[in-house]
Amino acid sequence: LWSQVLERLQLELSRPTFETWIKTASAERLENNCLVIRTPNPFARNWLQKYYINTIANVVQDILGYPVEIYLTVAQGDSFGSGVEGETWEPPTVHPVAVNVGQRQNKTPELNSKYVFSRFVVGANNRMAHAAALAVAESPGREFNPLFLCGGVGLGKTHLMQAIGNYRWEICPDSKIFYVSTEQFTNDLITAIRNDSMQSFREHYRAADVLLVDDIQFIEGKEYTQEEFFHTFNTLHEAGKQVVIASDRPPNQIPRLQERLSSRFSMGLIADIQTPDLETRMAILLKKAEYENIRLPRDVIEYIAANYTSNIRELEGALIRALAYVSIWGLPMTVESITPVLGTPHQKIETTPDVILSVVADAFNLTVEDLKGNSRRREISWARQIGMYLMRQHTDLSLPRIGEEFGGKDHTTVMYSCEKITQLQETDQSLIQTLRQLSDRINMTSRSQK
Ligand code: ADP
Ligand code: MG
Repeated sequence: LWSQVLERLQLELSRPTFETWIKTASAERLENNCLVIRTPNPFARNWLQKYYINTIANVVQDILGYPVEIYLTVAQGDSFGSGVEGETWEPPTVHPVAVNVGQRQNKTPELNSKYVFSRFVVGANNRMAHAAALAVAESPGREFNPLFLCGGVGLGKTHLMQAIGNYRWEICPDSKIFYVSTEQFTNDLITAIRNDSMQSFREHYRAADVLLVDDIQFIEGKEYTQEEFFHTFNTLHEAGKQVVIASDRPPNQIPRLQERLSSRFSMGLIADIQTPDLETRMAILLKKAEYENIRLPRDVIEYIAANYTSNIRELEGALIRALAYVSIWGLPMTVESITPVLGTPHQKIETTPDVILSVVADAFNLTVEDLKGNSRRREISWARQIGMYLMRQHTDLSLPRIGEEFGGKDHTTVMYSCEKITQLQETDQSLIQTLRQLSDRINMTSRSQK
């Protein structure tokens, strides 16, 4: 069974994902409707649990023809890397975690249950926004209506906004709490127009007790959405219902926003969130580690916090990658061991063009010859462009030298590739992910060859 499962998963998941997380796991036993899968360490367990459990369950169900519960356990006696001065990992509880396939949690579906006040670290950068959000959660529709949260990407707007929703929901499970992205609102509106169901669209949104609207900046220039939102807003506001809006900038800086909306948005409180200072960033990492049940040496926390300054999502991402890295390589959790994977500009790990070529070829299921060759097949030229970009990032080679490494391409081709990949990253989150995984891989491979 397990080899069948592996075969299927290999098709469904990207290669690095498969190699790192799936191949290291094994099936322990299948009993009744329960499959026990053993993972090499707690971190891998958590990772599978978090991201791949449903994929695995679906594949197993497909193969067996009936649904199974998946239990993930951690192999006994596997050391998880130890820190300095007796500071060690505290492995998460080793009880198996049950997952019921297809079972819905009894929660308001749109709200992420992790986005609660108790998980939100308050610092100088967000004190006012936090206080306002708490006030709104405690007595909606009173003081700050609407509450307009603004701040840069990854600074906690969505978290705070959903914390309000979760708090209300907790106190008053019957209240209607709607969390909606501006995009979703627009899509619902379009659907309503198309299906001639404007009435039910309006009834739906205007029945909210608390309406949370995320990323309102995307309403710019959408006249019809603005019109409809204006009326929804007024209806709710007049009825004393709470509206919370999040945006990456204040209302008066959203271009092509109707004046009447801009002034409505400014009617309550505009609370902004700034970038967090070092201490707040450290506190956020600590809290995150606490929830993941992991103990981190102080200098590691300081190091990560010092290197990720402007976006909390990236800060958290860095921690996750550091954890994955030490776990895979069985390293102690020290600053030294995580340096390569966090890729700080000063401490680049030395690598060679050959490593980069083979990592990229591998990831795209191509050969190094493909990358060096002249085929213009889409997949090949895409991989080649990524390879050129990564070579530029990871080495000090000049553009012409990089061209040579790719079988004698012109330096303008290399330049074009680097520019294109740089530009695409502005809008393509999954490309950023891919590049990151590849970079990690390059660093890991280079490190292991030293
Ligand atoms: P935004 O909506 O502003 O782009 P998010 O609310 O999605 O940002 O936050 C990005 C990530 O950072 C989330 O995982 C969130 O939980 C976390 N985060 C942001 N601010 C804090 C904070 N003050 N304390 C703890 N975690 C935070
Ligand atoms: Mg957000």
